Amino acid sequence: MSLWQHLPVYHRYAELPETFYIRVIPTPLENPRWVTWNAPLAEHFGLTGVPDEIWLQIFSGEPVPDYFQPLAMKYAGHQFGVYNPALGDGRGLLFGEIRDRQGRWFDVHLKGVGQTPYSRMGDGRAVLRSTIREYLCSEAMAALGSETTRALGMMVSDTPVYRERVEQGALLIRLGETHIRFGHFEHFFYTGQHDDLRLLADKVIEWHFPQLLLQSHQQQPYQQKVPPYLGLFQEIVQRTAKMIAFWQAYGFAHGVMNTDNMSVLGQTFDYGPFAFLDDYDPHFICNHSDYQGRYAFDMQPGIGQWNLTALAQAFTPLVGKNELETELGTYTVLLNQEYSRLMRCKLGLQQHQDGDSELCSDMLKLMAKNRVDYTLFFRRLSSLDAQPPEFVAELFHDQPAAMQWLQQYRLRCEREIDSAGHRYSAKQRCQVMRQVNPKFVLRNYLAQQVIDAAEQGDFLPLEQLIQVLQHPYDEQPMFEQYAELPPAWGKCLEISCSS
Ligand code: AMP
Ligand code: MG
Repeated sequence: MSLWQHLPVYHRYAELPETFYIRVIPTPLENPRWVTWNAPLAEHFGLTGVPDEIWLQIFSGEPVPDYFQPLAMKYAGHQFGVYNPALGDGRGLLFGEIRDRQGRWFDVHLKGVGQTPYSRMGDGRAVLRSTIREYLCSEAMAALGSETTRALGMMVSDTPVYRERVEQGALLIRLGETHIRFGHFEHFFYTGQHDDLRLLADKVIEWHFPQLLLQSHQQQPYQQKVPPYLGLFQEIVQRTAKMIAFWQAYGFAHGVMNTDNMSVLGQTFDYGPFAFLDDYDPHFICNHSDYQGRYAFDMQPGIGQWNLTALAQAFTPLVGKNELETELGTYTVLLNQEYSRLMRCKLGLQQHQDGDSELCSDMLKLMAKNRVDYTLFFRRLSSLDAQPPEFVAELFHDQPAAMQWLQQYRLRCEREIDSAGHRYSAKQRCQVMRQVNPKFVLRNYLAQQVIDAAEQGDFLPLEQLIQVLQHPYDEQPMFEQYAELPPAWGKCLEISCSS
């Protein structure tokens, strides 16, 4: 761990004008202890070994070495559709940036380090249960193949944190290619600080999309110019569409899609009351505080559009309204294309053929009607090389209807032909399907079980679940119990914004 001292730590964000942030000294936690350390992720940064006492102190907020410059970012955002200008890092701080072995920069952000000027009424803390949930889900999403922030480590302390009950203060070390949110742009737009808005856009382009600068330099005078700001907006639209298509295809409900929780890199971010679907219910609301169902599972694509429209408004000083509108118009098309592609992969279909979207929507309707477990259905469908169709149909109350759909599906699979004109075998198809249909997802009840143990001081179940979720597509027969359906109590867990 002494290696850390030799890591190049930068902080490009700290070089921006002070309108972008406030420097904050973290408030140390009492008696901090490591809960877990993400050794495989740390390896990417050349960090080997076990984190030591010094790092425990540094990351729990004391003392902060010179190479870190903790700061609270200023942003605003639309929360449940209402603009809130008073947001910003209220309990997390950006400490600096470190580089992985491939030369990519990652923000080091610590969540739960005490109050900042943006804490409003909050205590600046994060409790153990929500820290565990964010750790588990960011790592689970990464292993599934989604773009996401990552969790490098987590600690717990004796600092009491008052929620519905007294809980232990915890801290998450989060890595992300950026912590810049839609809400950063909204802040500078609504406060009329348009020079800073432009500077923010310039920096996002320079740090994350340098190709956009090249493109605009390389353009010949007779070519139509694509200004980099429009290119930036285009990137954000495309990445957001891709991210949400992934959520829909993998049954992930985010829960709080406020614009301050939307990353400009289209990475899943700020895990709160999220859930993976158990039974397939398109109207599922995972956030107990979301009374209107604004962020229900099937609302997510539309909310993505809503959020991008809010971002487009903030881009109006940089890009013409018509161009922004044209870009916004591409979002749904892109999302649907990506969603169809992912669903085709999940069904083991390599080529697009007429009737595929009907096949898929018939399947989803039947699943919704029969409340079939979303993850288990696709995993069983991926075993039809070794199992009869009844193995899938038994998940449905209406088995004859399921058998009928499976017959349609079989006929469709038989129409898949490779470039040499050969049919794919069921074995070939199912092998590929098992690489995209996870056996293990972070079901809420699994998270709850390890949280209950961790709150009693037992972190072993947590460690084991982390291991299992790192390989969601592998059989891992010794961990069969993690693929089981939730017990009755585990289906109706109430997860709220309180964290
Ligand atoms: P979230 O719902 O976690 O995305 O947070 C929304 C806003 O509230 C952000 O500005 C957070 O920094 C802030 N916030 C959330 N929880 C706390 C807390 N316990 N103390 C201070 N600020 C908080
Ligand atoms: Mg947030």
